[in-house]
Amino acid sequence: MYPEIQLHIDGHWCKSASGQDLAVLNPATGERIGAVPHAGTADLERAAASAAKGFQRWSKVPAFERYKVMRKAADNLRARVDEIAAILTVEQGKPIAEAKMEVAAGADVIDWFAEEARRTYGRVIPPRAEGIYQLVIKEPVGPCAAFTPWNFPINQAVRKISAAIAAGCSVILKGPEETPGSCAGLVQAYLDAGLPPGVLQLVFGTPSEISEYLIPHPVIRKISFTGSTSVGKHLAMLAGQHMKRATMELGGHAPAIVFDDADIDVAVKILSGQKFRNAGQVCTSPTRFLVQEKAYDQFVSKFTAAASGIKVGDGMDPGTHMGPLAHERRLDAMERFVSDAVQNGAKVQTGGRRVGNKGYFFEPTVLTDVPLTARIMNEEPFGPLAPITRFKDFDEVVGEANRLPYGLAAFAYTRSARTAAAIGAAVESGMVSINHNGLALPEVPFGGVKDSGYGSEGGSEAIESYLNTKFVSQA
Ligand code: NAD
Repeated sequence: MYPEIQLHIDGHWCKSASGQDLAVLNPATGERIGAVPHAGTADLERAAASAAKGFQRWSKVPAFERYKVMRKAADNLRARVDEIAAILTVEQGKPIAEAKMEVAAGADVIDWFAEEARRTYGRVIPPRAEGIYQLVIKEPVGPCAAFTPWNFPINQAVRKISAAIAAGCSVILKGPEETPGSCAGLVQAYLDAGLPPGVLQLVFGTPSEISEYLIPHPVIRKISFTGSTSVGKHLAMLAGQHMKRATMELGGHAPAIVFDDADIDVAVKILSGQKFRNAGQVCTSPTRFLVQEKAYDQFVSKFTAAASGIKVGDGMDPGTHMGPLAHERRLDAMERFVSDAVQNGAKVQTGGRRVGNKGYFFEPTVLTDVPLTARIMNEEPFGPLAPITRFKDFDEVVGEANRLPYGLAAFAYTRSARTAAAIGAAVESGMVSINHNGLALPEVPFGGVKDSGYGSEGGSEAIESYLNTKFVSQA
């Protein structure tokens, strides 16, 4: 049932010019389920030429017409939720219910940007002399290159391509090689809505070769990347060298702060749900659990019970709460994080090991007494590991929350409105969610500060980075 994967270049699905491809694996079994073609220079050059033509055409399509095509694409995606979600689970591992939610949420993202397309307002500035018109006009920035990862093959891609298409840009999407099928399903939903050739193209290949070809390419005017901070810094440097606009949605290490006065049951329920969703492979996942002294024992015992109650299994089984990690690299990374923490004195409250020897399953893991020198307290775990440490007071926890160079998401639980306001202000983070899980809706900003990147992938801010501001002064 896994689809044949092709590149989409200049209005056609096609193989790569070289015929080279790479295996796609099911992370629940480790078995090959398909293949993904690798685009080479000839394919990329064709895509760039087509993106230039696609931009000339699409940028002249009125916003109201762009809106109509996008609304149709959203409807197509909604109608295909079951089909695309099954592909997503088989290639990525997440439980089928999570996959369906991701695809359905993708349709909501398209709708949001479709509507935003009609609101890319400029303004009129009062002149200094009679008869002068000073106009501020928003224009699409040009052909874009978007690079998206495997953890949310729909969600990460749909935010970028929809903002670009809404603004009137064309876009070449380098999708995730590990999870190409669902991403291709998203592109097909757009194509079936009547998007002209060259407006949205899809390539796969060796990520570094594609980014090093497309970012400097004179046709490309803007890039957007989601992935690790180290790769993001490299791509931002390339973009800087070639004076290309860039949006960077990078790694995080989100503090989840639980104060003594918090509703512990609510905190455990929401934070454990967030922690183990998509097996922890989420850039906004809570990753440093900081719990105040009096609440510490109760939180650890309830959170550990919640973690050990999670049913790990094949995502296609509707009873599964947490699927496998997406690829073998993550499994090795989890084993290294846990052994390093234990060597540094951490206690494993539950989990800590690989499950079975087939597929890439890892136990939901809770670690306590983890020293700040352990790797897991400094590097993004990107997996089902929850290190819990205790703190004394507000200043101490703010110091720890802001200690790392990351600043993507932060979470806090307290019954005090005063503490809630104070922690919201004190944490250096692009997003803060207090007493509930309130991040990542299409209509709210989504992005980080510090080493977590720059730019927003949600809210009305998101489309702005695909627009140039032109000033026209007319007498
Ligand atoms: P990785 O750094 O090799 O790759 C991460 C993503 O970046 C992948 O999608 C990859 O295709 C892409 N990439 C890598 N090098 C690139 C290049 N030179 N040009 C363009 N794209 C490039 O890591 P990985 O093993 O796939 O994932 C592990 C780490 O990546 C995690 O620890 C996490 O920090 C980060 N990551 C973050 C997100 C996110 O949502 N922010 C998503 C996936 C991975």
